[in-house]
Amino acid sequence: MRLIMKFGGTSVGDGERMRRVAEIIATSQREGNDLVVVVSAMAGVTDQLIGIATEVTNGVRKPPIDPFIESLRERHRLALEVAAPDLVTEVGSVLDERLESLKNILNAVFNLSELTPRSKDYIISFGERLSAPILSAALRHQGISSDALDGCEAGIITTPNHGDALAIPSSEARIRGRVIPLLASKVPVIMGFMGCTERGVVTTLGRSGSDYSATIVGAAIGADEIWIWTDVDGVMTSDPRLIKDARVVPSISYLEAMELSYFGAKVLHPRSLEPAMRKNIPVRVKNTFNPTHPGTVVYQDERVDTRVVKAITLIEKVALVNVTGVQMIGRPGVAKTIFAALADKDVNIMMISQGSSEANISLIIEESHLENALDALSEVHKSGYFREVTSDRDVVAIAVVGAGMAGTPGIAGRIFTALGTSCVNIMMISQGSSEANISLVVKTADGKRAVQILHDEFNLAEALNE
Ligand code: ADP
Ligand code: ASP
Ligand code: MG
Repeated sequence: MRLIMKFGGTSVGDGERMRRVAEIIATSQREGNDLVVVVSAMAGVTDQLIGIATEVTNGVRKPPIDPFIESLRERHRLALEVAAPDLVTEVGSVLDERLESLKNILNAVFNLSELTPRSKDYIISFGERLSAPILSAALRHQGISSDALDGCEAGIITTPNHGDALAIPSSEARIRGRVIPLLASKVPVIMGFMGCTERGVVTTLGRSGSDYSATIVGAAIGADEIWIWTDVDGVMTSDPRLIKDARVVPSISYLEAMELSYFGAKVLHPRSLEPAMRKNIPVRVKNTFNPTHPGTVVYQDERVDTRVVKAITLIEKVALVNVTGVQMIGRPGVAKTIFAALADKDVNIMMISQGSSEANISLIIEESHLENALDALSEVHKSGYFREVTSDRDVVAIAVVGAGMAGTPGIAGRIFTALGTSCVNIMMISQGSSEANISLVVKTADGKRAVQILHDEFNLAEALNE
């Protein structure tokens, strides 16, 4: 089989883990598979890079660039020594060169006091620039021929949207041309999370973007399957850090997985399913720390089992915006004006609901977009389209996901009854057009409890007869 294997940050969090990953790859190669590896930065490194990049421009005094570089050097060197002891000199100098470039760009940004989206993307791509040579060396140490490629070298061409770039169609042929010829003789290790524009400017694909890198490459080279190796046994009925009795979902459709990731399940990047779905390539989610567990397979099938709800997610860092006023009743174009004004300010709307009286439109947006949203709406307000805008940051959104909800009456009723009985007040509700998702908004303080109540209501902790 031709397989893409993507390893997340925790899976390559230290040298011992890198060795474990190299063994997983070696075993799969011995079984006769052609492999392409996509790797994330070592756990926490991207956060640290974002932190220093911000500090470099925000602080009054010079931030600790040198100690930062030294701590990265130490961590990566140590990992290299454990994962590929015979390659420390050769690969160590590659790491040193990269750390020198990183130091230079951080100093340049500090001296200019300006962090452009372009330089930020370049800086935050260094996590993967440092981890990939080590994993590639770990493979060579095990006798597997391997090269590390950055996203651009692998042919991932993107839109110029820094921090949230999308692969463009011409990537496909480019990736095929760059990656397929390597497969006969080696295992390429591609740095996840990054690509470049047609003009060669480095871009990143959004947080957790290595999942997306893996599916972009998988779709381009016609992989038989894409395996996302992470630190949990698969896609679960809820975030296991939140819900102790969450359970692995053995199979889930692309549509369901998309809804889950879009509504906060961190296990997959929201855009990562799209390339796989387009080419109908199954995506498996597996645990590096428990590799014999079958994990979750994400594919076309929308298996409707007796349990219509598959999983529940919680999204934090959102804000509720209410636009009200009798002026809106029966007046065509109000919604259009509101949404256009928000779009002009790049506000991402995650949920919408409009009362049947039409005197109210409620929106859920990312909390970081609230200022922009309020600015945009105060402009629209001047034209008298509505009476007032109110907002609330103290909220979370919950999504109840399952393809079986389409056409199954009574699901919404069960949600409201379960929450109502436990005195959880629902502030807003919306049903996605796919009908695979009912989402609702509650106060932050009620969030976790509400997820647990719904998890219990739909018996998600019990094993499924598949
Ligand atoms: P990686 O570094 O491997 O990409 P992430 O941290 O991005 O890993 O994603 C895996 C984490 O996602 C898990 O450790 C888990 O805490 C979290 N998570 C949230 N929701 C879910 C869910 N529904 N199923 C599985 N994991 C989830
Ligand atoms: N390293 C990047 C991040 O932390 C991408 C990824 O891990 O998928 O967001
Ligand atoms: Mg991830």
